[in-house]
Amino acid sequence: MRAFEFTRASDIAQAIAAGAASKTAQQGAEVRFVAGGTTLLDLMKLEVERPTRVVDINLLPLGEIETLPDGGLRIGALVRNSDLAHHAAVVNDYPVLSQALLAGASAQLRNMATTGGNLLQRTRCMYFRNDAMPCNKRVPGSGCAAIDGDNRHLGILGTSADCIATNPSDMNVALTALEATVHIEGPKGRRAVAIEEFFLLPAGTPERENVLEPGDLVTAVTLPPPRPGSLQTYLKLRDRASYEFALASTAIVATLDEGRFSFARVALGGVATKPWRSYEAEQILTGAAADAATFRRAAEAALRDAQPQSENAFKIELAKRCIASALARATSPAWGPSGASRLDRRGDKLYG
Ligand code: SF4
Repeated sequence: MRAFEFTRASDIAQAIAAGAASKTAQQGAEVRFVAGGTTLLDLMKLEVERPTRVVDINLLPLGEIETLPDGGLRIGALVRNSDLAHHAAVVNDYPVLSQALLAGASAQLRNMATTGGNLLQRTRCMYFRNDAMPCNKRVPGSGCAAIDGDNRHLGILGTSADCIATNPSDMNVALTALEATVHIEGPKGRRAVAIEEFFLLPAGTPERENVLEPGDLVTAVTLPPPRPGSLQTYLKLRDRASYEFALASTAIVATLDEGRFSFARVALGGVATKPWRSYEAEQILTGAAADAATFRRAAEAALRDAQPQSENAFKIELAKRCIASALARATSPAWGPSGASRLDRRGDKLYG
């Protein structure tokens, strides 16, 4: 690890001023904020991240979960993943978020990792983490070792000729299905960005993963008010039962009216370069009967534009089955009104 200056911000303005000294808020940033440190410190040890200054933001007043006047939820950027997963409002009204959080990492990591840090989690592409290999995301213009290399875990949706790396976060998939908003404070003031627009596709600039500019600090994530009778579930498929990233995952938020979908949000993880909202699947579902034929049609639509790499064509059928199974689970009476079984509510995991 390279030497760096370590400072502690005591208020938001101080953190923003420190961050604004960086030329970029993306890969290669000279200044990095640290909270849980569960991604940043690993990448600094690997010298993938080489900040000259690290600013500890743990003292900032961003650790609260509050119910909003409209019934929605505001989640401070420093709320730890485990606290969020077990918060009563999340368990009861946004179970898809609780399930996704508990499907990620390990209990120890969830105790440290924050909402803001999880949102900004970097890809697990092995070439990104190995500075001996070409990687456009780490060193723009150096090439992509994954396209002709080990790409079994990588993307089939939203990829480009420059990068096929997946966004690894489970939480982000649930937040996408819940239509969350990301709140940012920076040198130019405050702004709120829909999660759909927060993450960027790699295109020709994979080093740029989101809309953050130098000095921008994610302060909170808000959720819209819960929908009455909402059916929610998160299903994650992976190589082993715990402490593993998704090969394919699906978050569902839906309502039924007399056996037909009156509302549907479908988001995918493990298969795309950003948390992937499937408008195609939602279109098929809306107004359709909640049965196996509809689930399969929605799954086919979601993967219609998939572009497999040399080693991950299996993900197309895997993701289709993940979507269909998640829809079946969400709409099954056996899983209760929120699509969460009693086991899920206790924090145990049926599906990892
Ligand atoms: Fe780098 Fe993206 Fe290629 Fe992985 S897929 S080597 S992160 S450019």
